[in-house]
Amino acid sequence: MPIVTRNGFSTAGPIDAVSLEAPEAAEAETVLVSSEADVERLLARNSPVSLVQIPFRNSHDGVGYSLARLLRNRGYTGRIRARGDIISDQFRYALACGFDEVEISEALAARQPEEHWLGDIAPARSYRDKIQKPAIEAPASVFAETVTRVTHYTDRLFSFRITRPASFRFRAGEFVMIGLPDAGRPVYRAYSIASPAWDEEIEFFSIKVPDGALSSKLAHIRVGDSIWMKKKPTGTLVLDALRPGKRLWMFSTGTGFAPFASLIRDPETYEKFDKVIVTHTCRQVAELKYGFDCVAGVREDPLIGEFAGDKLVHYPSTTREESRTMGRITTLIETGQLFSDLGVPALSSVTDRVMICGSSEMLADVKALCERFGLAEGSNSKPADFVIEKAFVG
Ligand SMILES: Cc1cc2nc3c(=O)[nH]c(=O)nc-3n(C[C@H](O)[C@H](O)[C@H](O)COP(=O)(O)OP(=O)(O)OC[C@H]3O[C@@H](n4cnc5c(N)ncnc54)[C@H](O)[C@@H]3O)c2cc1C
Repeated sequence: MPIVTRNGFSTAGPIDAVSLEAPEAAEAETVLVSSEADVERLLARNSPVSLVQIPFRNSHDGVGYSLARLLRNRGYTGRIRARGDIISDQFRYALACGFDEVEISEALAARQPEEHWLGDIAPARSYRDKIQKPAIEAPASVFAETVTRVTHYTDRLFSFRITRPASFRFRAGEFVMIGLPDAGRPVYRAYSIASPAWDEEIEFFSIKVPDGALSSKLAHIRVGDSIWMKKKPTGTLVLDALRPGKRLWMFSTGTGFAPFASLIRDPETYEKFDKVIVTHTCRQVAELKYGFDCVAGVREDPLIGEFAGDKLVHYPSTTREESRTMGRITTLIETGQLFSDLGVPALSSVTDRVMICGSSEMLADVKALCERFGLAEGSNSKPADFVIEKAFVG
C-alpha cells in the first residue's frame, strides 16, 4: 500500500496490527487504536509498541487527530500511522497532531500524486533551509526563529508569523514568552499563540505600544529577522480547562482575540461544542480586521471550514466608531442584546462554557457577569465553566 511521509511516497506491505482491545495486544508491537480504545492501556504497557495505527472512517472523522495528539502529549515516541479516509489537504494537520505517516489507497495515490501531499508542507521546509546563522547566538533556553510574514493593520496593531521549531508543541489557546535577539539582557513578553497547533508556522497578533520596551521595536520587524521564543508554552484558555458543554463563548477585546484565533482554527473545538461564538470588541472598525480575516480563513479552509460549518459565529463590536454593533461587551451581555442578536438563550452553567481574554478591567467585569449567571471559574487542574487570561498586564 502507498505510504505518505514528510519525505514523499513509499510502499509497504500490509501490517498485522492487533486491536488494542484484543488480549494479544499486550505483547503486540503493532497496535490498532480506534476511537473506542482505552489509550491508557497502551501507555501503561511495559514492552514497547513500535507502531500505532489509527483508522479514519471518513475525511470528517476528527477523533483520530485527537488520539494522535493525546498519545504524543502523554509521551508516546513510536511511529503513528493514519489509515483510511485522509486526503492531501489534511496531511499538514495530521503531521502537526503527531502522525508520522498516512496509508492511502492506490486509487487515492493516483488521484492525488506526491506533489499534492508535499506541496503544502514544502514552503516552510525550503524557507528554513535558506535561514542564515543569526548574528547573535541565542541562549539554549530559547528557539531562534525567523520572521516569514508581517501584516500591519493600524498604527496600533500588526500580526507576524515566524518559522516553527519541529519540536515545539502547544495546545490551542496557550501563550509563550518572546523577545528580540539581544546580546545583553533581552526583554521577553508573554504572547498568545494565534496560529493553530497544526500550522507549520507560529503566528502572533500584536499591539504597538509607542514607548513599550518590546513592542516599540517589534513593530519594525521585517521578513528574515530573528525572534527569540522561550521553549515552554502555558496558559489557561485551553479546552482541557472547561467541562463539556454545548456552547463555547470566547469574549475578547483588542489583541485578546489572539488565543481565540488559534482555537477557532482547531478542529477539536468543533468536536467538543455545537456552537462556538467569538466576540471581538475594539475601539475602531479597522482594529477588527485581523479577526475578520481569521474567520474568513476558517470558512475558506477545506479542512477547518468543514469542521466549523455553521457552528462558528463571529460577533464583532466597536466602542468609539460607528459600526453595525456598538458597545462594550459587558453592556451587550447585561442588556441581553448579545443573546437576542444571536437568537440564543442567556448564559447557563448547564450548557455554556466561557473563555475571556482582555484588559484587567474587562476580565473583572465579564467574570462578575459569568458568576452572576451561575458559572464557576476553572483551571487546567480543575476544569469548570469559564476561564480567563489577561491580554496584557496594566
Ligand atoms: C498571558 C498574556 C498574553 C499576552 N498576549 C499578547 C498578545 O497576544 N499580543 C500582544 O500584543 N500582547 C500580549 N500580551 C501583552 C504583552 O506581553 C506585552 O505587554 C506587549 O507586547 C507590550 O510589550 P511592551 O514591552 O512594548 O510594553 P509593556 O511594558 O509590556 O506594556 C506597556 C503598557 O502598554 C499597555 N499594553 C501592553 N500590551 C497591550 C496590549 N496587548 N493591548 C493593549 N495595551 C497593551 C499596558 O497598559 C501596559 O502597561 C500578553 C500578556 C499576557 C500577560
